[in-house]
This record gives sequence, structure tokens and C-alpha cells, in this order.
Amino acid sequence: MAAKSQPNVPKAKSGDSVTNDRTASQGQWGRAWEVDWFSLGSIIFLLLCAPFIVYYFIMACDQYSCALTGPVVDIATGRAQLSDIWAKTPPITRKAAQLYTLWVTFQVLLYTSLPDFCHKFLPGYVGGIQEGAVTPAGVVNKYQINGLQAWLLTHLLWFANAHLLSWFSPTIIFDNWIPLLWCANILGYAVSTFAMVKGYFFPTSARDCKFTGNFFYNYMMGVEFNPRIGKWFDFKLFFNGRPGIVAWTLINLSFAAKQRELHGHVTNAMVLVNVLQAIYVIDFFWNETWYLKTIDICHDHFGWYLGWGDCVWLPYLYTLQGLYLVYHPVQLSTPHAVGVLLLGLVGYYIFRVANHQKDLFRRTDGRCLIWGKKPKVIECSYTSADGQRHHSKLLVSGFWGVARHFNYVGDLMGSLAYCLACGGGHLLPYFYIIYMAILLTHRCLRDEHRCASKYGRDWERYTAAVPYRLLPGIF
Ligand code: NDP
Repeated sequence: MAAKSQPNVPKAKSGDSVTNDRTASQGQWGRAWEVDWFSLGSIIFLLLCAPFIVYYFIMACDQYSCALTGPVVDIATGRAQLSDIWAKTPPITRKAAQLYTLWVTFQVLLYTSLPDFCHKFLPGYVGGIQEGAVTPAGVVNKYQINGLQAWLLTHLLWFANAHLLSWFSPTIIFDNWIPLLWCANILGYAVSTFAMVKGYFFPTSARDCKFTGNFFYNYMMGVEFNPRIGKWFDFKLFFNGRPGIVAWTLINLSFAAKQRELHGHVTNAMVLVNVLQAIYVIDFFWNETWYLKTIDICHDHFGWYLGWGDCVWLPYLYTLQGLYLVYHPVQLSTPHAVGVLLLGLVGYYIFRVANHQKDLFRRTDGRCLIWGKKPKVIECSYTSADGQRHHSKLLVSGFWGVARHFNYVGDLMGSLAYCLACGGGHLLPYFYIIYMAILLTHRCLRDEHRCASKYGRDWERYTAAVPYRLLPGIF
């Protein structure tokens, strides 16, 4: 569907144009002015179904020991009614509401009130005040990078509690998992709705707002690019990283504690899931400055997709392997465990090195070595909405010369490793790799669409030099 565009901006198709002359690309890249029927259908489907998908997975674990077909078979054969399943679902509780409020408040305080000190003593770590990428309107935002510090302090408190203070049980997250789900949903919807209203009435940077004329698209994909409260509270940086990603490792630790409580020991599969996912999480915070240059921060607007997704989808569905292992304490044979560990580590290596190569290349403006050699470069240019002409470079060496998104391949290998750690008993823990494959393939297409309209012919030169997106010879 071609939605009406904002009255005071030129109506322009974002998609097919690959010329990069000044007028054609100005104001288009990073802004889908038109919403087609497919996008609108997908958005309405996700808005309606995503909360139920999360509920279905968590309920299937709670009531059917993680058998995904359990609820459907019971309803189809008349053994249960929807109302029975709903009646057995724990409601929101005062305790969960207090816990969740405390959690979010603590993360807000760590984010806003504690300037980074890690960069002062950790060699190689880049924290403190850092700059983001140039926005389509030509703005460069500053960010307080202190995620690693927030993660360390939060986990220090967790371990101090588990081993010394005993203020709460380490199983507390598992024990309140469904009541906490309702709290996370309340925050997810509240923040997305607030961001939408803010975008219309008091945006942080009006020139970086995107109005498609379609209410559902605006709500889902966001109006404001970088909504902020005050100088430093950046919605995207806060909600993307905390409370969801800081919580990820705590949730896994709580699941491990529950497995020990129920079965008397922690299995090697649970240890693998905890370790591999912790590497991914710590990597995220160690590289938070690099993260400012990734699609989530420098291209996506802040709407329900990020707001609700970070509050609900991420903490609940990215942790399904740990949850599954509470109900099914899988103990892997040594060869299986070693295979999973190797797959996870090789995947992580590709993911990290590929991302590092691009980051290093961009930071040094190409004056670096990639795989021991001077990198091959494609010079490119683009125009921001303020009419400014900018120059950039595309890397054609290292993993960026193997395929245009080889960093995603590493991520997918790591994701598969988490799933394989759960054995072959059920489909549920494999949801993650299915979801990541869809997410990253879609992201790859979305990003290329955007890069084509941003760089025009220069992007065509890159796709000619590196013809495959993910897997050489295949896709
Ligand atoms: P990338 O880090 O691949 O960034 C894509 C951007 O990089 C492009 O828009 C372009 O931006 C620039 N670029 C593209 N090709 C080149 C090149 N050859 N040389 C230099 N710059 C180039 O994408 P993401 O932000 O999606 O991903 C970052 C990481 O995060 C990935 O490893 C991904 O796997 C992971 N990820 C994980 C998710 C999860 O849920 N676990 C979700 C999403 C991502 P520009 O306009 O600056 O040129």
C-alpha cells in the first residue's frame, strides 16, 4: 500500500533508485516514505501475534514441559479449552511488579548517574563519551557508553547475593517468570506508545523524524530516530542494551540455579548455554561503542519493534534454551559437548573478527591492515537531508570480501550451537536459530535496499566486487 507521505516533504520512493546524484538520494536513505501491502501485512501480523507467540512458548514450558504441540493437541482433542490454559497461567503479582520496577530503576540509575570508569583502567576498552554515526538529517549524537560497567556491577551484586548476602534466592527470576512477563509487556507497550506520542508532539530532533502516513507502520517502526529525555537518556541505547541484554546472563544464571535445585546438579548443556551466551553478551558490552554504528542504532527508528522487542521478545525468547534445560536436564556426551563448544567458538570468532574488521577500517579511514594486507576499498559518497555531501568507504577485504554480510554467518553458527546444546528431544529450543535465520536474512535484504539508495552506483560496484550476501556460491 502506498501510504500518504508527510505533507511538507517530497514524496519519494526509497526502494529502487540506485543513482546517487544529489537530488535523488537526498533525504531518502534510511527513510521508507511508502509502505507497501506486504510490509503493512507483516506489521499488523507482528503487532497482533508477537505477544501471543511469546506467551505460547513460555506457557508451553510451564504447562506442557516445553512440548510445543502440547497445547494444540489438547485443544484439538478436547482435553483442554483455551480457558483452562489461561486459568492455569500465573497472573501478575505485587512481588513481580516490585521486582521489575526495582530492576528497571536500578538499570536507569546505572545508565544515567554513573559515568563510565571502566575505560580508565581496562586496556583496549572504549567507553565514556562517544559519537554515533551521521543521521539522515546530518546530526551526530553523543552517547555515554557505560554498559560494561552496568553489566559488571549488576553481576557483582548478583554473585554477592548468591554467596554472601542471601537477600533473595538465585531462582527468583525463574520463580516469577510469567508474572514478570506481564510487567515486561506493560513497559514494552508504555515505552513504544510514549515514543510515538513524543515523536509527534515533542521530538528530540524533528528533522530526523519519519512519518509514513500509516499509523501502524509509524507505531511499529517508530517516528523518532533518536528519542531522548534530557541530554543523555537515549531510548535506543538504553532499551537495546539494558534492561534486556544485562538481564540475559542473569536469567540464564537463575535457570541454572533452578536446574540445580530441581535435579541436584547443573548439566554440561546448561553450562555450555550459559558460557556461550555470556561470551556474546560480554562482547556486546565490551564493544558498545562499535554498536553505535550498527543498524539498530544508526538506521532504525525507535518504535514498538525496538521498544517492545527489547523489553519482551529478547529476554523471553533469547533465553529459551536455558528455560528448556530446567525442564529437560540434558547431559551431553563429551564429543557432542566439544562439538557444540567448537561450533559456538568458531561462530563467535567469525562474528567478532568480521565486525572488528569493518569497525577498524571505518575508524582508521582505511589506514589499517586486514588479514596482514592493506585493504581493498571502494570510495563512495552520499547526501544527507540537509544537503551536505559526505564521503565514505566500503571494505572489500577480509570477511567483507568473502560475502557482504559474513558477520551474520558467524552469528548464525553461534546461535545454532546454543540450540544443539539442548539435544534433539524437542523443537522449542531450536526456535532461536529459525528466528535468527529469518531475522538476519531479512536484515540483510533491508540493509542492502538502504545501502543501494544511499550509495547508488558505488554500491553497485561493491556488489559486483563481492557478489554474494551470506554464503559464497549459494546466496
Ligand atoms: P552490520 O554491522 O553488517 O552493518 C551494516 C552497515 O555497515 C551497512 O548499513 C553499511 O552502513 C555498512 N557497511 C556495509 N558493508 C560495508 C563494507 N563492505 N564496508 C564498510 N561498511 C559497510 O549490520 P548489523 O548492524 O545488522 O549487525 C551488527 C552485528 O550484530 C552483526 O554481527 C549481527 O549478526 C549482529 N546482530 C545480532 C542480532 C541479535 O538479535 N542477536 C540482531 C541484529 C544484529 P553505512 O551506512 O555506515 O555504510
